[in-house]
Amino acid sequence: MASKKLTEICLQRGIIYPDAEIYEEMSGFYDYGSIGTKILKKWKDEWRKFFLTKDNFHEVTTTNIMPEPVFRASGHLSHFMDPVVECSKCGNKERADQILEQELDENFEGKTPEELTKIIEEHNIKCSSCGGELKEVGNFNLMFSVDVGSNKQHKAYLRPETAQGPFTAFKREYRANRKQLPLGLAVIGRAYRNEINPRKQVLRTREFNQAELQIFFDKKHLNDRQAFPEIEFKVKPVDSKEQTATPQELVNSLNLPEKYIYWMAKEVKFMKKLGLEDIRFRELSDEEKSFYNKHHWDLEAFMPGFNDYEEIAAVHYRTNRDLKLHAEESGQNLTIASGDYYPHVIEVTFGIDRNVYALLDNALQSEDDRTWLSLDPLVAPYDAAVFPLIQKKSLPKKAKRVKKMLEKKGFSVTYDPKDSIGRRYARTDEIGVPFAITIDFDTLEDDSVTIRERDSTKQIREDIKDLPKILRQLKHRKKLEEVGKVI
Ligand SMILES: [Zn+2]
Repeated sequence: MASKKLTEICLQRGIIYPDAEIYEEMSGFYDYGSIGTKILKKWKDEWRKFFLTKDNFHEVTTTNIMPEPVFRASGHLSHFMDPVVECSKCGNKERADQILEQELDENFEGKTPEELTKIIEEHNIKCSSCGGELKEVGNFNLMFSVDVGSNKQHKAYLRPETAQGPFTAFKREYRANRKQLPLGLAVIGRAYRNEINPRKQVLRTREFNQAELQIFFDKKHLNDRQAFPEIEFKVKPVDSKEQTATPQELVNSLNLPEKYIYWMAKEVKFMKKLGLEDIRFRELSDEEKSFYNKHHWDLEAFMPGFNDYEEIAAVHYRTNRDLKLHAEESGQNLTIASGDYYPHVIEVTFGIDRNVYALLDNALQSEDDRTWLSLDPLVAPYDAAVFPLIQKKSLPKKAKRVKKMLEKKGFSVTYDPKDSIGRRYARTDEIGVPFAITIDFDTLEDDSVTIRERDSTKQIREDIKDLPKILRQLKHRKKLEEVGKVI
């Protein structure tokens, strides 16, 4: 179960809520509200800044609907299936591996329908809604199909991952970018999966946001020495116990290419930058791995609301499989001219909604009757709030001027003149605004304001003209005590 308090805040404060909720619920679809969209945008901005500043790494914008041959080639048409079992009495359809997981408390992901049918029979598992007999386990393709054209000339699908766009566009982008490798092609966009059982808030939905980076490179550089970031992180290999190590130590202890470990380390660094600390990489077993991967490790974040680690990103070594299969299916030559070979691909992939949710879930704090989101300033919906102490004299006018001045300097600022100052603090605390600036009667005398920090509720008093400098320092994690005198 998701945290009840967080769900409440998400609904009431315009962060995340079910789509079209004035109608009967169609589960697995969520909207980001006015505040949620600001957080989402900041996350994407940070992702772009972090991953797309390398030479020859670019963002492309590809379509959501792609023709059937793309997915015949990629393997999604035949492999992108979940095992589904139907009740012979009430017709209820459920994911076979999930019923078994609930009943037997073991992981059955990746088992074939035949294996699952056998286990259901052995343990005499019944329909979870009516207790009726279950039929044989079948396969259910997770892609949404679309008929294109008035005469349904083309069979197409909503993309189940953003990755295929960069693969089909590879040759053109390779030429457009002066035929150089490595070439990074990123897509930030939506993907669609017709999940049998959407659940866990935005962790498993039918329409979701992904940020995926496909890195095309010459295989001979797979084990080149890498300039690893100085960092250590937890890893859980399939066949040994959890360990904490630096990237260099992992080169020696895990049987993984250096380039692959480099991108694991980069993902960890990005998460830590945004304030997620309790994370680990988990290796997937051969049964769990996606069908297109040679190496597949998920990055999991601990989520207090679920009291468990949940997958939020991954690094995939897709080899040259996708390009080779697209070349065969399309009849086009997708090798690169100079070497007459297919580049290999490492995919750096993020479920954006899961990342945003992990940040919110880990940020949720309460103390007595106070609740707040301790979001890192980099992903907070606003950099600061500006309040006139009361709606009298020229306080509101002065406050609006301060807001304008800060916005001109590039800060995002919210303004609120209504209610008591305490209630206004409470409201911005709940959406994670890290600093609140209050204009009071002293301000009219000496042009100074109070700056209140969300987490500690401590305050300093500073000149208006120093606000941009101070906010910038605070945003980059300077402590309140370091920039001013606490009052
Ligand atoms: Zn039933």
